[in-house]
Amino acid sequence: MIKTQIIDGKALALAIRQKLKEDIRKLGAQTKPGLATVLVGDDPASAVYVRNKIAACKETGIETIDHKLGAATGENELLDLLQRLGGDRRVHGILVQMPLPPQMRASKILEAMPEEKDADGFGVKNWGRLYQAKSLTELENCFIPCTPLGILKMLEAYRVNPEGKMACVIGRSNIVGKPMAHLLTLHNATVTVCHSKTKKLAEITRRADILIAAIGRPRFVTKEMVKEGACVIDVGINRMNDERLVGDCDFEGLSQRSGLITPVPGGVGPMTIAMLLANTIKAWKRTLNSRSTSDTRIEK
Ligand code: NAD
Repeated sequence: MIKTQIIDGKALALAIRQKLKEDIRKLGAQTKPGLATVLVGDDPASAVYVRNKIAACKETGIETIDHKLGAATGENELLDLLQRLGGDRRVHGILVQMPLPPQMRASKILEAMPEEKDADGFGVKNWGRLYQAKSLTELENCFIPCTPLGILKMLEAYRVNPEGKMACVIGRSNIVGKPMAHLLTLHNATVTVCHSKTKKLAEITRRADILIAAIGRPRFVTKEMVKEGACVIDVGINRMNDERLVGDCDFEGLSQRSGLITPVPGGVGPMTIAMLLANTIKAWKRTLNSRSTSDTRIEK
């Protein structure tokens, strides 16, 4: 039986947040990084996510400007807000919490997202840049969506190099599966994307050295579906009737088969929040750099 290593996303996220806090302190700039959060409606899960993100910002030294809009808010009102936030110098990152109420088209909101403040990385302009990127260097020019970015950081921290490996992503959503597959390809893995219509799923997943599960079904991935020694990243967050959170993978079963595995909670979730902070600070640093560049030009 294999001894599985547990990937401690909570500890890694904490270390990253400490480093970000230190970065802000060291830079000692006059403007502090700022994240605008936009929560529309009264979905309780969304409210919890936003609250956690705001708390993490505060703890790290990122100021937040929080907007709560009623469930009946019209699309144009949100578009106007985005435009205002785009011009607000205190705001370096913007987070519009999804899902939006039915009268709002997410596609319109993501089209209007100011590219230089797209801390979540889902705006249409940022996506263009993300999918145009042919190398890791080119990725520097865009914001990588937080969950896949957090997963890449975990792989790096636990020395799992995707190059030359067989990777399998279960799930093809815009927020996880799709960008994850693209990013693993850029990291030179050979990637298979599986989804609800995939036939003989276990035959495919069993070939994977790196298996990413982003399905939204509790304990869906069992040990029979996993190659011995594989690195398994469980993105799923499923709330059970007894309020416990479980992932998309059968953690107990996989603990006897995989080489590495992320727990739920304490795996991908904390890393996703840490990456939102990192993207906001990246956006903030860019404004500091562009200001100092223009200052130098004036002096010359
Ligand atoms: P989604 O519902 O948008 O997508 C689910 C995907 O799973 C789809 O592409 C679908 O084709 C696939 N799928 C469904 N049934 C399947 C089956 N039987 N076989 C194979 N594939 C199947 O979900 P999402 O937004 O990508 O989220 C997935 C899970 O990850 C959810 O539990 C969500 O809560 C969680 N999540 C966690 C984080 C985090 O930070 N930890 C971030 C985002 C999402």
